Amino acid sequence: MSRGYNFSAGPAALPEAVLRQAQAEMLEWGKARASVMEVSHRGKEFVACAEEAERDLRELLDVPANYKVLFLQGGATQHFAQIPMNLARRDQRADYVLTGDWSEKALKEAKPLVRAHVAASAADTNYDRVPARASWDLDPQSAYVHVTPNETIRGVEFADIPEVGDVPLVADLSSTILSRPLDVARYGLIYAGAQKNIGPSGLVVLIVREDLLERCPKDLPKIFSYAEHAAQGSMLNTPNTFGWYLAGLVFKWIKAQGGLAAMAAQNRAKAELLYGYIDTSGFYRNPVERSVRSWMNVPFTLPREALDGPFLKEAEAAGLLALKGHRAVGGMRASIYNAMPLEGVQALVDFMRDFAARNG
Ligand code: PMP
Repeated sequence: MSRGYNFSAGPAALPEAVLRQAQAEMLEWGKARASVMEVSHRGKEFVACAEEAERDLRELLDVPANYKVLFLQGGATQHFAQIPMNLARRDQRADYVLTGDWSEKALKEAKPLVRAHVAASAADTNYDRVPARASWDLDPQSAYVHVTPNETIRGVEFADIPEVGDVPLVADLSSTILSRPLDVARYGLIYAGAQKNIGPSGLVVLIVREDLLERCPKDLPKIFSYAEHAAQGSMLNTPNTFGWYLAGLVFKWIKAQGGLAAMAAQNRAKAELLYGYIDTSGFYRNPVERSVRSWMNVPFTLPREALDGPFLKEAEAAGLLALKGHRAVGGMRASIYNAMPLEGVQALVDFMRDFAARNG
């Protein structure tokens, strides 16, 4: 058996070069004479590794100096709750734009903690679009506006960053961060679970504008306070050291590929290849409005549900893994994050063409 092309939505494929480096360093990491998992997070080797990862991420995303970068835990899900805890008073309004399952979940977790208001929703068209900005019901007094610029399940990705005035824009970038250049200064807070484009699960990266940390209530338990985590360099308690280290290797890998402009060119080419084939196949179908189709997650259906089983079985035998769609939408989903090479998408398209010819 050999490694296949892994289309998992997350935890997702990691660059093979990164895995090989981690493998080579597994027993003896640098001068530590131990694995990176076996040394103190406060020791000089790990602190240097953590600082380098942050520097590389700042360089990749061109993070302005007045933003803190945090390497935390809890998954993006914990931050669905932690964001209102830190950025809003309980009686304050916060605006949520619903574009799919993940923004719905973010809203649900926020509800006990803030006056969460649905500013716009695409639920009425089964989340196949992003509601036009002009239709959003925003309040300039709101604590923040929350968006999910890439909905991993539906495959809907914002074409641009919405203008929301002086209210901080908060974005769950879990499934699209590092896929292309990003204007960080347009956001108040960005958060992303690592397990798609950053590294292994169990790590969450947050990028937060410093002035927003002043909002964190002083009586919040320290472990939930972004201000406290920022003050302690994400080492209030033991961080996910292996995740942080591996994320650092991924950042170096992205830099070696040519940075985010190069990633964007590669990701665009992959997406165009796959959507281009789907749209002309007369067999497969993607329901998302063209202007907001995700570069990262491509859901598609076959003409008959009865073909799903055979498609998945044959795809796996051909080394094309984890294509089963999310239960909420059915069919298939190909997640083609940074680590998926163009050859992997080409192999998928070749297989899809052959399958359609045999089953059309
Ligand atoms: N937001 C988005 C956009 C996601 O894709 C996911 C996970 N697939 C989550 C949040 C939840 O992440 P976690 O499981 O790390 O809490």
